[in-house]
Amino acid sequence: MTIVLDSASATLPGGPGLPQERRLRTSIPGPRSQELMARKSAAVAGGVGVAVPIAVVAAGGGVVVDADDNSLIDLGSGIAVTGVGNANPRVVEAVQNQVAAFTHTCFTIAPYESYIAVAEALNRLTPGDHEKRSALFNSGAEAVENAVKIARHYTGRQAIVTFEHAYHGRTNLTLALTAKNQPYKSGFGPFAPEIYRVPLSYPYRDGLTGAQAAARAITVIEKQIGAENLAAILIEPIQGEGGFVVPAEGFLPGLVDWARNHDVVFIADEVQTGFGRTGRMFASEHEGIVPDLVVTAKGIAGGLPLSAVTGRAEIMDAPQVGGIGGTYGGNPLACVAALATIEAYESDGLVERAQRIGDTLLGRLRGIQARDPRLGDVRGRGAMVAMELIDPATGAPDARLTGRIARYAYEHGVILLTAGTDGNVIRFLPPLTISDALLSEGLDVVAEALAGA
Ligand SMILES: *Cc1c(COP(=O)(O)O)cnc(C)c1O
Repeated sequence: MTIVLDSASATLPGGPGLPQERRLRTSIPGPRSQELMARKSAAVAGGVGVAVPIAVVAAGGGVVVDADDNSLIDLGSGIAVTGVGNANPRVVEAVQNQVAAFTHTCFTIAPYESYIAVAEALNRLTPGDHEKRSALFNSGAEAVENAVKIARHYTGRQAIVTFEHAYHGRTNLTLALTAKNQPYKSGFGPFAPEIYRVPLSYPYRDGLTGAQAAARAITVIEKQIGAENLAAILIEPIQGEGGFVVPAEGFLPGLVDWARNHDVVFIADEVQTGFGRTGRMFASEHEGIVPDLVVTAKGIAGGLPLSAVTGRAEIMDAPQVGGIGGTYGGNPLACVAALATIEAYESDGLVERAQRIGDTLLGRLRGIQARDPRLGDVRGRGAMVAMELIDPATGAPDARLTGRIARYAYEHGVILLTAGTDGNVIRFLPPLTISDALLSEGLDVVAEALAGA
């Protein structure tokens, strides 16, 4: 099962430190991981679950190593965060230098350059060449909340449109925006008012063209809310937690056009799709849409907590001085990590790499799909690919099969994430630093899991 380090991974950032191999020394979880899981149960709140019950000691390139010296192939990147690889050398060096210089002053008390440099980079990289401003926060949910605050302030309106199957976070406002009851919302209400959910474009399930799906959503907006009450339309250009639903072509441009004609702020939540993941720097670029505000987080800082809202200067500048901020937002460690991460995306060919990873993923999974009717749909862009698992007799979502595949995978040394409102989607989000050999071996394990289930 051990494979030799291939030449590709030896040169990839994040990779060289750790042998790039799948290695099983014990069953998973091994004895040390089991010991840690017992301590977790006794010490950590029960609501904090884990998908893969291991004790991580190191990670990089395309692997995660546990305390029993098992080396697992990482097909999840900690939910699309470590696109540049875990402990990417550029990030490590930047953070080590910064932590020794100063760790915190609070940007809104005594500012520093790295925050401003991150804002400049985001203003340059996000779609559109209009004048932009950025503000930095800690988590994706916090940035989504701030985008909503800014859009409401700018428009003087309150209503926010969100979509079926949406995921925008776990704070109270973002839970109102999120569509999935279990496990996210159940028991945690009441939720924030003035949030309206409208139908998505879900080509595999609705069979509509993008224009038809946009017209359907717009009709609901006009009949049930009214443009004059609507501050913003908030959407993931490709849904993450909802199951990597890629809307039919024309759906996103149709919504953007309508929003522009009605002075409604169009917010793209690119928290999961951003930073090269889909084979473009941002997923909005695939259809050439230019959002008014773009929300980013996850892949932004190589694993350090950072998030941002970037958008049109006149919208971003609307709130009063002091209206936007927070103690830790744009922490200096996270900012230098983001600058190093952005340099890695731009200088190490990682955006192109995402496209090649996606070609491999789609090719292999469509090959399996041709022989296996349980793969109802295979979809995605770049290194953001999913398979939707169904009961071939009825077309019904098969969450049990999905759970069995994910479990088989980690027991055989592959970290695989699930998704979907019905829990029947396996999502592939490998680090962009994974070698071809490891990616291929990870997919072999997925094929084995399907064959055995
Ligand atoms: C993960 C995610 C969020 C929330 O980000 P956190 O950092 O977990 O708060 C918001 N939107 C999308 C699309 C996400 O994938």
